[in-house]
Amino acid sequence: MERVLVVGAGFMGAGIAQVAAQAGYQVHLMDVQPAATEQALKNIRWSVEKLSAKGVLKESPDQVLARISTEKDLSSAAEVDWVIEAAVEEEELKHRIFQELDRVSRSDAILATNTSSIPITRLAASTTRPARVLGLHFFGPVPLMRLVEVVKGEKTSAKVFERGVSFVQSLGKTPLRVQRDIPGSVMNRIFSAAFREAVELVEQGIATPEDIDIGMRLGYGWTVGPFEIADIAGLDTVARVGRSLQALGAKHLAVTSDRIERMVADGCLGRKVGKGFYRYSPEGKRLPGKE
Ligand code: NAD
Repeated sequence: MERVLVVGAGFMGAGIAQVAAQAGYQVHLMDVQPAATEQALKNIRWSVEKLSAKGVLKESPDQVLARISTEKDLSSAAEVDWVIEAAVEEEELKHRIFQELDRVSRSDAILATNTSSIPITRLAASTTRPARVLGLHFFGPVPLMRLVEVVKGEKTSAKVFERGVSFVQSLGKTPLRVQRDIPGSVMNRIFSAAFREAVELVEQGIATPEDIDIGMRLGYGWTVGPFEIADIAGLDTVARVGRSLQALGAKHLAVTSDRIERMVADGCLGRKVGKGFYRYSPEGKRLPGKE
C-alpha cells in the first residue's frame, strides 16, 4: 500500500491523515509542535470511534489508528509516495517546506498542497520537480466533507493531475478539477466573495451573523451558513487566507473591515476554542445565544 506524509497536524492535517488511514494508506503525520500531533491523534480517535459507532467503518478504530505514525520532522518524506502539505497559510513557510520536501523525498513522489489561497505554480517553483506538484484542496471537517479540489499548476503534468484525481477517489471523495491555477482556486473564491459581503452587511448593522446564516440555510439551501463555516474553519485561518488573497492581488475577495482581525486578537478563533461568531461546548456543540 502507498504511503502518505501529511505535513501539519492541525484541523485539516488531522482530518486528511484520518481519511487516508481509513482508505488503507500508511500515514505519517508531521508537525513542528508535539502538542499538535498529540491533539490530532486524540481528535482522530474520537472521530473514528464515532464513525465506527455509526457502522460506517470497515475496520475497528484501532486498526485505522495503527496506520498513523507521528513525526517531528520531514525525514519520513524519503519513504512516501504522496506528501500533502497542510501547514499554516503563510507563503514563506510553505516555500521553506517545499524546498525541504524536494530535497528529502523520492524523485517519483508527488507533492501536494492544501493551500486555500496560494497558486500551486508559486509553491512548485520552490522545487526541482514542478511537474510533480499539484493542489489537493480538502474541505473541513475532512472526514465529513466529500469534495476535494484537484488543482493543476502551470507545470503540473497531465499524468500527475490524473493521479491526483484517482487519489482523491481512493479516499472516497469527489474531485473537482481546477484546470488553471489562480489565487483561491474555485471554491474558496466563491466562499470568500460571499463571506466578504456577509461581514460587510453585519458591520453596517443590516443583519446579524445568526440571521444571515439562517437566511443562507433556508433561502439558498446551504447546510451551514457563512459564519458557521468561518467558525468551523478557524477565524485565525480565515484571517490568514484573507491577508494572503489580498497580497496575491485578489483584493475583491478579502473582508474589508478589520472585524475578523479584531476577533482573532480577542482570542475568538471559532469552534476550536469555544468562541467565535457563536459559542460552543468543550465537545464543539453549538450553545444557544449569539456572538
Ligand atoms: P491549523 O492552524 O489548524 O494547523 C496548522 C498546523 O501547521 C499547526 O498545527 C502548526 O503547528 C503546523 N505547522 C506550522 N509550521 C509548520 C511546519 N514548518 N511544518 C509542519 N507543520 C507546521 O490550520 P488548518 O486549518 O489545518 O489549515 C492548514 C492549511 O489548510 C492552510 O494552508 C489552510 O489554508 C488550508 N485549509 C484550511 C481549511 C479550513 O477549513 N481550516 C480548509 C481548506 C484548506
